[in-house]
Order: sequence, then structure tokens, then C-alpha cells
Amino acid sequence: MAAPLDASKVEIINSTTSKENKPKENYEFGNDFTDHMLEVEWTEKDGWGTPKISPYHNLSLPPSCCALQYAFELFEGMKAYRGQDGKIRTFRNYMNMARMNMSAQRLALPTFDGEELLKLIDQLISIDKDFTPQGFNSSLYIRPTLIGTTPSVRIRPPDRALLYVILSPVNSTYFGGKMSLEATDYAVRAWPGGVGNSKLGANYGPSVLPQKTAAARGYSQNLWLFGEEGYITEAGMMNVFFVFKDESGKKELVTAPLDGTILEGITRDSILELARGKLPSDEWAISERQFTIHEVFDKAAKGQLVEAFGCGTAAVVSSINRIGWQGKDIEVGTSSELCETILGWIKNIQYGEEEFKDWSRV
Ligand code: PMP
Repeated sequence: MAAPLDASKVEIINSTTSKENKPKENYEFGNDFTDHMLEVEWTEKDGWGTPKISPYHNLSLPPSCCALQYAFELFEGMKAYRGQDGKIRTFRNYMNMARMNMSAQRLALPTFDGEELLKLIDQLISIDKDFTPQGFNSSLYIRPTLIGTTPSVRIRPPDRALLYVILSPVNSTYFGGKMSLEATDYAVRAWPGGVGNSKLGANYGPSVLPQKTAAARGYSQNLWLFGEEGYITEAGMMNVFFVFKDESGKKELVTAPLDGTILEGITRDSILELARGKLPSDEWAISERQFTIHEVFDKAAKGQLVEAFGCGTAAVVSSINRIGWQGKDIEVGTSSELCETILGWIKNIQYGEEEFKDWSRV
């Protein structure tokens, strides 16, 4: 029988040298990695092999490898946070495991017991714990990756795979500032029946050209529209929320529904649950519904667009100040009140200032 992923079998080879443990101000998100990485090989015949934690190194792959030829690649993005008490916590990472298995299933790559991978990740983080910076804006980014390694240009379900995890320290200076968005209808990020809800590398490379085009026109990110109706789906690589206020003063916090075309963001889910629990229901409606760029422009013209923000693991929430579409620009309210409130709610849980359900794990 093919072996399941088993964290208790881990082999550890410690690095004999340590990368310079830089002051946290010098960490560059995505460019600096810690001393160690985790790897587990899988074959169809034997299942999951021995997990190995060893010094960070290059991979050796055959040029015919199906990850390189046919994009058999998927990943996750999560973080560890060091609280004021010095403890390191992860946030709802069992949801990342569920999403990773969903992506794996979609790509005909092997699935695994998420709890076993979390135990291995905990061990990797604890070996490289000195790389987790302290501070309310700093964290350690965790990048689990799964690739097909079958050495063949014949397209077929991979019979070999490699699961690996690398860690990148994040300092406070990378994010911040408000986002301006160019509503994008000439390029489509995802479509019904497609793979927009899976975290496949193949969804990300093609989004760079529209982003570069928007940047050349003075916008920081794309607001991804779908269909002739102009449904709003996501903002850059984030889910997106809008706050509307009707004539009676009642507010609505609205985001696109999980219809398979958007990534099922863990930050999005957290915001919805916290907002439903904390915002007074006589003043607020919390909606997952379809809404269009027309609705946003109409509401802006009537003074009913209060605020908007993107959300994701990277920045938690990021306020939107301007949206351009078909040659017109709207200013998005002046408020970032709810955005800042939500940032506080989530960071308090992430950094262990507050306990909420099982959302954070030491
Ligand atoms: N949408 C896309 C396309 C993303 O890449 C991300 C970041 N992973 C998100 C939304 C936000 O997801 P999460 O809150 O789980 O980070």
C-alpha cells in the first residue's frame, strides 16, 4: 500500500553555516530565505517517502520534468507571527492545507494528511525560529509547494512528485500605502469551470502582463472583472471588499461569492466571520453576492461608496483609494475606518493578543 505522509519519520540534517541573521529592516520579502527547507518525495508506487529537513539548496530536476513542461505546480502562502510574548503562532493554517489538497486534486497530484504537513512545518519553523522577526508588522512567510517530477513530455497524470516548504522573513516596510486599481476587462483572471479557485502557479504568471500594463497607466493593481456584466471578482492577488451606504444610512460590506472563479481566501473568510460576529446587525448587512463595476460607479456618483479594500495573507487588508475604468476615475470614499478596524481584529489574533476559537496555533 502507498505510504501516507508521516511527520514522525522526519530526518533532519542541520546546516553547518547560518546565513547572516540580518536586522529585520533588511529582510526583503520573497528574496531572503531561512537556513533550512523541508522536502518529501512521492511516487505512485510507494506513496510518500521520508520527510527531510536539510540546508536550503537548489533542486535538481530533469529538463523533461512535467512541472516545467506542463505547469504541474501549486503552492500555498501562509505566515508565522512572533507575538510580544516571544511565542511564534500560525493562523488558521489547516485551511491552507485543505486548499492545497483541493489544488492538488485538481492537478492530479497526490493529496496528503494536512495535519502531518503542519507538524513538519512547525518543526521547520522551530529550527529556523531566529528568522521570525518580532513586531506587529513582521512575520515569517511560509511557502509550501507541490510539483510533478515525472521525467516525461508525454502528458499524463504525474507518477512522481515533490512536496517542499521554504520560509521567507517579512519585515514591516514592504507593504503599506493605498492601492489604486484599474478595472480590467480585456484580460480575464479566471472563468466558470476554470481553475481560479485553485492556487496553481499557472494562474499567476499570466497575471503579470495586465499588472504591468495597469502600472504603466499609473495604477498599482488590476481590479479583475468578469463577463459582459462586469462582475467584480478580485483585486490583484487579493480578494476584495466594498462598503456601501444606502439612503437610510444602513451599510453593506460586500464581497464576491465563492463561485469557483475566485481564490477562497482565508483572510476573506476570517473577515466575513468576524464582521458577522462584531458589527451590529441593525446597522450592517454582510453580503457575499455578485456585484458589478457599474454598481460601484453608480454608488460612487450618489455618494454611497464609503470604502473598499483588498485582503490576503500578505497585507491582511489594503485600502483602495481610486478605481479607473473605461477612461474614468472614481475616488473611493476617504474613509479607511472599517479596513483599520479589521486589521486590528485580525492582527490581535495572529500575534496572540487575543484568542479566538482555534484560529492561532503556537
Ligand atoms: N486571491 C488571490 C488570487 C490570491 O493569490 C490570494 C493570496 N493567496 C488571495 C486571494 C488571498 O488569499 P488568502 O487570504 O488565503 O491569503
